[in-house]
Amino acid sequence: MSPHKGGFAATCRRPIMQLSLETGSSCAPDASTVAVLAKRRQKVEEMHFGLTEEQDLIVSTVRAFVENEIYPHEDEVERTGEVPDDVAEAIKEKTKELGFYACNFPEGVGGAGLGHLDFALVERELGRGSMALTHFFGRPQNILMACKDDQIERYLMPAVRGERMDALAMSEPEAGSDVRGMKCTAKRDGGDWVINGTKHFISGADHADFFIVFVATGVDETPRGPKKRITTFLVDRGTPGFEVRDGYKSVSHRGYKNMILEFDDCRLPDAQVLGEVDGGFAIMNEWLYATRITVATMCVGRARRCFDLALNYAADRKQFGQQIGKFQGVSFQIADMITEIDAADYLTLASAWRLDEGLPANREIASAKVYASEMLARVTDTTLQIFGGMGLMDDFPVERFWRDARVERIWDGTSEIQRHIISRDLLRPLNA
Ligand SMILES: Cc1cc2nc3c(=O)[nH]c(=O)nc-3n(C[C@H](O)[C@H](O)[C@H](O)COP(=O)(O)OP(=O)(O)OC[C@H]3O[C@@H](n4cnc5c(N)ncnc54)[C@H](O)[C@@H]3O)c2cc1C
Repeated sequence: MSPHKGGFAATCRRPIMQLSLETGSSCAPDASTVAVLAKRRQKVEEMHFGLTEEQDLIVSTVRAFVENEIYPHEDEVERTGEVPDDVAEAIKEKTKELGFYACNFPEGVGGAGLGHLDFALVERELGRGSMALTHFFGRPQNILMACKDDQIERYLMPAVRGERMDALAMSEPEAGSDVRGMKCTAKRDGGDWVINGTKHFISGADHADFFIVFVATGVDETPRGPKKRITTFLVDRGTPGFEVRDGYKSVSHRGYKNMILEFDDCRLPDAQVLGEVDGGFAIMNEWLYATRITVATMCVGRARRCFDLALNYAADRKQFGQQIGKFQGVSFQIADMITEIDAADYLTLASAWRLDEGLPANREIASAKVYASEMLARVTDTTLQIFGGMGLMDDFPVERFWRDARVERIWDGTSEIQRHIISRDLLRPLNA
């Protein structure tokens, strides 16, 4: 699809951006605010969604990769719940050959140096394919850019070169949305840290060589009650006192496993601290801020693949002597689906564009995440309905898209948490 070309720029750029300006200016602005808004308005005039030639190439290259290297293995992964090692290795190698491995990292450290919008286009195309497989189209966590000293050669560079894979561990059985409620602690013992506790739901931990782990390292008393200080550690697989166990079986994304991490008096030196001691939230905010766009863009990609199936089925399948797409009950569903997919696409790319422009994007990213993930749920459900009974059968990937869609409203911050972010962003400036 190419909805971002030519005519769209002229028709759609104003409504998206004006909305955010208008909502942000509900109080009488002072002179400096007026200047900021004027500068922003200037940027708005420059905003366009027409893809450059290079961006077109990114889209077509990744689309072809997903169709040729990912689709053929999807049925096997669905059937077995496993990605064969040779398939994983082949995807990694081909991604490297294409120059896309770690494309989210700056060229200075060996990445492709893609900006947020370019990277969103990559993720959107990857979203069409099985997550278990596209995991090996390696995109290490950007937070590794906080590596310093010998961490650069031990973690950052091998991750970018595709020699070592990472996984990120924040969630715990008793601390999901409430990250600061974490119980996993690191205590000082001599010059070392000793970690105890459990992390769960850790994606990609089965293939990870090392883990980026968020741990409580103290408590501050604040007027609003005790507040945990968080520190980030780099933990190698095989470190004594650290075990990776099988996790839960999920209905979504077969083969993309989540695991449990157990820390039992796991001793780490200071050299394993990523960023500053007690600075876990700072690097979390700096580097993990944009990962929700990834969820949103992948939802858009998957929705488009699903939609194509719905459209073709509606044109093919006959009942009562005619194509079902000729019944208004079906054709209007098709119309609603594409409208919602396009809306999610534009919202998502606009939030990525804001990041590239250095504009505030917290609320916009949350809106994109909540809308795109809920849109995908509706689109997959409607597609299944259009397929009738066959939609539930594994002869078509529709039932898989429907199952896979469910997790998107939960991970990387639930829909409720996204709505909290959006409403707080709007209400807090009004002291509400
Ligand atoms: C398959 C899978 C893979 C994952 N991968 C990773 C990973 O790699 N690394 C990692 O660290 N985490 C990972 N997660 C964890 C994921 O980020 C959490 O599941 C998510 O943050 C929600 O936490 P929770 O499941 O504990 O739900 P809870 O936080 O217990 O929430 C339960 C319900 O209460 C609601 N709720 C909670 N607080 C509020 C509030 N303040 N206002 C309104 N409603 C609220 C929630 O929206 C939800 O509906 C993964 C999860 C899954 C399912």
